[in-house]
Amino acid sequence: MIKRPFFCLRAPRLKYPAKNSYQKEDITEIKLPDTITLLVERSGSDNGEIDLSNVKQVATGQKITLSGDNLDYFISTATGSIMEVCAFAGYMGKRYTSITIKTEVKDQWDDAFKKIGDTISAESALGFLRSLPGETDLSRLFDAGKPLNSIVINGVDNDLLVTTNQAVITLAREDLALGVQYLKQITQVNDVFLMIHSGAASGAYGIKAEIKTIDPIYPNAAPHLFMKKCLGRIIPAGMDSRDMGVGFINAEAVAALGRAFQKKEFPIHKILTIIHKDGSTTHARARIGTPIKHVLAAFNIEVRHGDQIILGGPMRGTFAYSEDMPVQWNTDAVMVQDGGQITPCEDTPCINCGECVRVCPAKIPVNMLVRLLENGRYEEGAEEYDLLSCIECGLCSYVCTARIPIFHYIMLGKYELGRIKKAEETNA
Ligand code: SF4
Ligand code: SF4
Repeated sequence: MIKRPFFCLRAPRLKYPAKNSYQKEDITEIKLPDTITLLVERSGSDNGEIDLSNVKQVATGQKITLSGDNLDYFISTATGSIMEVCAFAGYMGKRYTSITIKTEVKDQWDDAFKKIGDTISAESALGFLRSLPGETDLSRLFDAGKPLNSIVINGVDNDLLVTTNQAVITLAREDLALGVQYLKQITQVNDVFLMIHSGAASGAYGIKAEIKTIDPIYPNAAPHLFMKKCLGRIIPAGMDSRDMGVGFINAEAVAALGRAFQKKEFPIHKILTIIHKDGSTTHARARIGTPIKHVLAAFNIEVRHGDQIILGGPMRGTFAYSEDMPVQWNTDAVMVQDGGQITPCEDTPCINCGECVRVCPAKIPVNMLVRLLENGRYEEGAEEYDLLSCIECGLCSYVCTARIPIFHYIMLGKYELGRIKKAEETNA
């Protein structure tokens, strides 16, 4: 989370990077490390018991179904032996199974995915490609309770400085074009839009999706704002785009889908935007599961005491507490902030300057909301000050004069409300 210097006189106009040309040679290949770690999100009903004792060796692309009363599975992104399986708690209490694999240099490919032949269907996609680079859970597009009538492909990354999806549109345009066809086929949704920033439309030729351009001003790529400005639809508080029949998916995931079905090869790499300490950016291609420290080492980025590693971009990213954290399916960026440049959050009271209210695209009275959230009064925050209308852009934290970590309070508030709702449903 970046903070701007003290006081500003008008709302900031933060721009998404709007570079239109990317070269393959600009992407640094990260060597396969000795170990990779795959994080598999556990389904809600699962009790967390993990038993992979019968699986010692895995091939690249091999599907392993987890034990228990669920159909969770993971697909190995490398060949090697399973060293460790344990529970892992992620951001906001998300529960994962962490599987560490000692890798072998040469990939031995499992051919189960190849055997789907020309069967391009929802079943084959969900059976093998539920996690794709850029998309952790493809099944979100197949929720029977929320049938879709449109799909939006994000060609603009949803954070500042991050250009992973912009790069994919240029570098994997043919895969993306194929992916759009397959996406329509497996979802039976024909209204597919491609979101790009104005000025990048020329790079999207040959892609059979309706192009929707946005001004490259942050946070115009957020689903709520895109829906309002480009589709003329407003998402009510507490709902998401899927409640309105519109699904969002990253361009990288659609390109991976296209390539996977075309080549019959399971996707195992993730494109990353690397945001250096001086704010410059480069790109890397790493095996999913690669520890972040290997990625940083490839760019000679030294993490010193006080520096911060952020997975994602500066406005919405989450802190990585260890350089051993792996590249995951949705790790679009890795950012390292120099400890000397970080403006720390402070435990100071709100001074009612109103900057957060002025900047909030959802028109939330953030100054009032934060008072409740700081005191754990989440339900009141939702009822009285519109907590659930927040589109999670982080601008309020960025401008806060008192340096209150508002965005984190908001995310915690939403998480706690989700827990309360779930507990009420369970006990009903
Ligand atoms: S993160 Fe802050 S500025 Fe952004 S929508 Fe939510 S309350 Fe408003
Ligand atoms: S929360 Fe921060 S930005 Fe908002 S009114 Fe208070 S001091 Fe100002």
